[in-house]
Amino acid sequence: MKSIIPGEDDKRCFICQKYGPEHVHHCLHGPYRWLADKYGLTVHLCVSCHMLLHDKGRYDRELEALAQEAFESKYSHEEFMQIFQKNWR
Ligand SMILES: [Zn+2]
Ligand SMILES: [Zn+2]
Repeated sequence: MKSIIPGEDDKRCFICQKYGPEHVHHCLHGPYRWLADKYGLTVHLCVSCHMLLHDKGRYDRELEALAQEAFESKYSHEEFMQIFQKNWR
């Protein structure tokens, strides 16, 4: 599904705003990756921001909370808890 994260643009890195991002990051990863895919909780990132995120956790928490917020403003907190059964906010 297309991303529902506010401000997400497939032409720019979501973190550093660099043009031409090469990667798609699932804001909720691990076992939640397929759900992030299903509900459009993804952002485009450049390779260096993506590596820093997964290696050092840079912006990881922020993107998790943002993804939950985006989902809840489109659906609801109750639905989020039902589907993801975890609270990142
Ligand atoms: Zn970047
Ligand atoms: Zn990623």
